[in-house]
Amino acid sequence: MKCFKDLSCVCNRYGLYFSNMMKFGDHRICSNCLKALQLSVYRKQHVRKKWTSTAVRQSFIDFFCQNHDHKVIKSSSIIPTKNQGTYFTNAGMNQFKPIFLDTIDKSHPMSELRRAVNSQKCVRVGGKHNDLEDVGKDLFHHTFFEMLGNWSFGDYFKMEACSMALELLTTVYKIPINRLYFTYFGGDEGQGLVADMETRDIWLSLGVSDDRVLPFGMKDNFWDMGDSGPCGPCTEIHYDYIGGPNSVRLVNTGLPEVLEIWNLVFMQYNRRTDGTLEPLNRVHVDTGMGLERMLAVMNNTSSTYNTDLFIPMFNAIQKSCNIRGYGGKTDDPIDTAYRIVADHTRMASVCIADGLLPGTRDQGHKLRSVLFRCFHQSKRMLQMPHGLVPSLVDVVVQSLGEAFPELQEHRLKIKDVISDSEDHYEKVFRIGVKAFDKCLSSNKDTASRHLTDKILMDIVDGKYSDGYGIPSEMLPHLGEIYSVSLDIQGLQQIVEQHQSKEQVEKTEKVYLSPETVKEIVGMGITPTDDSFKYTYQYHSKDNMYDFPQGMKAVVSAIVKDDHLFSEAVGKDEFGILLNKTMFYGECGGQIADKGCIKTNNGFFYVRDVQIVNKYVLHIGNMESGSISVGDSVFLHIYEDHRLGCMKNHTATHILNGCLRKIYDNVRQEGSRVSPHKFSFDFSTTSQMKQEDLTTLQDNVQQIINSGLIICRGLQPLDQALQISNIITMANEEYPSHVYTVSIGRGCSEFSTELCGGTHVTNTKDIESFCITSASMSPLGIKRMTCLSGTQAKKAIENGFILEKYLQEFEAMIKSEAQTDTWLDRVKHINKIQQVLLEVNSSRPVAVVSTRDKNLSIVVCLNENIELDDGFEAELKSVDSDVKLKKKVKKNCTFLIITLKRKALEKSVAICEKLQSVFS
Ligand SMILES: [Zn+2]
Repeated sequence: MKCFKDLSCVCNRYGLYFSNMMKFGDHRICSNCLKALQLSVYRKQHVRKKWTSTAVRQSFIDFFCQNHDHKVIKSSSIIPTKNQGTYFTNAGMNQFKPIFLDTIDKSHPMSELRRAVNSQKCVRVGGKHNDLEDVGKDLFHHTFFEMLGNWSFGDYFKMEACSMALELLTTVYKIPINRLYFTYFGGDEGQGLVADMETRDIWLSLGVSDDRVLPFGMKDNFWDMGDSGPCGPCTEIHYDYIGGPNSVRLVNTGLPEVLEIWNLVFMQYNRRTDGTLEPLNRVHVDTGMGLERMLAVMNNTSSTYNTDLFIPMFNAIQKSCNIRGYGGKTDDPIDTAYRIVADHTRMASVCIADGLLPGTRDQGHKLRSVLFRCFHQSKRMLQMPHGLVPSLVDVVVQSLGEAFPELQEHRLKIKDVISDSEDHYEKVFRIGVKAFDKCLSSNKDTASRHLTDKILMDIVDGKYSDGYGIPSEMLPHLGEIYSVSLDIQGLQQIVEQHQSKEQVEKTEKVYLSPETVKEIVGMGITPTDDSFKYTYQYHSKDNMYDFPQGMKAVVSAIVKDDHLFSEAVGKDEFGILLNKTMFYGECGGQIADKGCIKTNNGFFYVRDVQIVNKYVLHIGNMESGSISVGDSVFLHIYEDHRLGCMKNHTATHILNGCLRKIYDNVRQEGSRVSPHKFSFDFSTTSQMKQEDLTTLQDNVQQIINSGLIICRGLQPLDQALQISNIITMANEEYPSHVYTVSIGRGCSEFSTELCGGTHVTNTKDIESFCITSASMSPLGIKRMTCLSGTQAKKAIENGFILEKYLQEFEAMIKSEAQTDTWLDRVKHINKIQQVLLEVNSSRPVAVVSTRDKNLSIVVCLNENIELDDGFEAELKSVDSDVKLKKKVKKNCTFLIITLKRKALEKSVAICEKLQSVFS
């Protein structure tokens, strides 16, 4: 509306010539602008009282809940459960997917849901397009946002959905209807889809004038979940910031003057795998309204940052940095930094509250990248003092804590994690600067101030920083400081190649897609009764567990590559579905049973067991003969494998309980139970100290020795959650009825967890326990790797032997009398190496508690002997023991360093100690 200022006769906004300029106050303006101006005055007077984010959110929820009988559903975690199939929760519908796909368990509390409303926490970072780099540069992108939504699951459809939407917008939010545009699906001949005239007519019948109802194609107005599954047309509601007849041309152009504010999806088709569409029996409505965008509309600003979700953060930053305030410009680096720091702190807070921690993989890696980017901007652009970003968490909690209580609950933890990350960032930054210096001086000849992907990979691998790798997300920041261009894309490709190579072994293969499950259900095949996995008994007489070996079952289906077969034959991998089984399917961190399925003429080796929608799939291959659908078969599990898992699983629970007694806010993040060892991941707000490990080890052993009884119970979820001190897993989806596992009864009750695993019946059966490694990175999840049973015994023994040998060796070196020859020393070192090698290959690693004692002996030995020049070079050329003996000439240092590097470094995790030298 600049035209009234320059008094020309050309209206700037529309670029049109107006002869009839009018007077408005002291100015002459065109008629269009007059209209807009009058409207804005009207708006200021009537409609636009300041709307807070809380008011926008709550009005939405109240409207659907109170006026239209919707059930308020809590936002699901930002970290999706395994079967939701996305990286981060990125839309409101993620948690309802099983309802749309019709794969939801009938006992699930949500299976009866008809109408729902909520505000869903969403994160969009990474994926194919790296939009992270865009956040902060414009005025409306975010890594974290809220999606308001209402749903109908086989309940109301288009008419009700549209009329409720219009009612909310015009009566609650009080938006004039002439500021809204409505789009509908205009059909697609190529796909054989007719236009959604029904929706068009509905809008007209609700009083929308026909020049405001516009058709668009597949891209804008047809929604699908993927290549197959539920899909359908959608109708979008757009808000017009300008007003006036010319805005119609701006709908769906991506220009900020006319913005989409609400999308209503009507799921009415199912797309089959061959691409054809069939009508759905039950139709659904899924809608999404971005809270931040709606809030901006309600405050008549086109920037989502000019709202109460961000302004308090900007104020807090300004106050502590003593810099100028946020100016809202897009081409201003300070304003950009303001937006990045505020947005990223919100995202990190929400993720950490949901249990995510910065790390090197998957979502944890994304979180770390976001945090690093936040620190970079806060330090380099805003000169924010160290420790200020964590304090912004309070502002986030103030703004979002009411809607998402988990933020309040974990406020201290969030601050701790961000603070740890900041320390980590500083440390890595210092090392990175040195690495860049070194790298640039040693690559002078390339001189073009460009670092290729290969050079970057070297930096990442730690070539320029004594083996201390620089995380790739640090590189752009360093590149900026050194003004060098970096081939980040090339590096990305190399990293991805590495990862995909790793993932080939790791990816979870889809054995049964939802479609095949549907087919199986359609054939009348009932889910597998796998309750027999719990049918085992302890016989004190022979000190043995008795499993139902040879159990009889019937083959109900055979699958290969997600297709149904009538017979399993040949060397290919098959999945056999049985009517009942005693095999344990991988679940809750405990790996599956192994074993075999036998018939009179077939032997099937079961290498893995997976449970898909209560169907238990025995995966493996025919060793001989064949097995067909309908065959009667006999089942055998490998008992040692199962028993090892049982001991380790119970030991996991004991460790979990003991951790909670010495640390605050312990949260189990995962576990992996195999027959040979188990690992336990957890987070805590307490500092983990070396001496805790010995205490923990002793406490667990004490529980084992006290012979507590272990009981399994089955009860409704709500009832189980009432149990005091019940231990549940973060981000785990529990069914309506759950198993509980209690250790100890009555007054000697030690712990109760929700758990469907298999356990020993008495803690005594675990015999022995030890911790073999504990990663105590201040970032990321803390992980303990542990052993139980005979493996633990052997590891503890190894630790003592090693200690003894090392002490002998120490005495030998220190003795003034040079009676021993270097050959004696070599012999002794060989003895030590023998233990270490044995430990390193199949045998358990030495126990943490003795490891440190041993390590200190080695360090002490090292200090007693002077280093020889040129020794490092010599060391590199030595790679076998034979050569070693030839090369060694009374050089004790050599021996010790070799010992340290070659054996200890790997098996005794000396790396940790070495790395701390850098800090
Ligand atoms: Zn468990």
